[in-house]
Amino acid sequence: RTLAELDADLTGCRACPRLVEWREHVAETKRAAYADETYWGRPVPGFGPADAALVIIGLAPAAHGANRTGRMFTGDRSGDVLYQALYDVGLASQPTATHAHDGLELYGTRITSPVHCAPPANKPTPAERDTCGGWLAEELELLAPAMRTVVVLGGFGWQAVLPVLTRAGWEVPRPRPAFGHAVHVELAGPAPLHLVGCYHVSQQNTFTGRLTPAMLRDVLSRAKELADL
Ligand code: SF4
Repeated sequence: RTLAELDADLTGCRACPRLVEWREHVAETKRAAYADETYWGRPVPGFGPADAALVIIGLAPAAHGANRTGRMFTGDRSGDVLYQALYDVGLASQPTATHAHDGLELYGTRITSPVHCAPPANKPTPAERDTCGGWLAEELELLAPAMRTVVVLGGFGWQAVLPVLTRAGWEVPRPRPAFGHAVHVELAGPAPLHLVGCYHVSQQNTFTGRLTPAMLRDVLSRAKELADL
């Protein structure tokens, strides 16, 4: 199937009972500030072109962010930080992402995640991560012809992505490279791939200054260069 078909099929997935229940519960009960909105309440597909040279991989949709708007990192504070930085380094058409039809375009960049449904407390279980890994493996295989660089946001994503890259045909060294901010690993595989770590854009990291806007911009502009964008 094509990437568009994969995205369409993904939105109907109900493979993880705990996450299906949670995403739908949140969509019904809503946050007071969004009481008038219809929540998406389903799996959130990757966002960005099928020929992306740079792929950014997060963790999972936020309950009142992407689980509400239906688009990756759209409508929450983590996304505000990420899209501002993508705009600053020339990878996004606008610095804000408020809803799925706000006109935002990504340039040569696709954003996706190892878990596509909002988990309680932002914490998927290892079993849920492994179940959803099948979607990510197929997505990365479809992106492989153009994909040059992968930026992984946070240690959970890093742990999830390494086995998926192995499954999709890349040679991941043993022992597996450890996650760290600005860690850069080159992998042989269907096409040579730069793998770059970056602290997650969670409020926990951005409010405490563990990840500053300048640190995020530095990683993204390096990744942009590595992807020949
Ligand atoms: Fe399906 Fe992934 Fe959502 Fe689980 S997390 S229900 S595998 S889309």
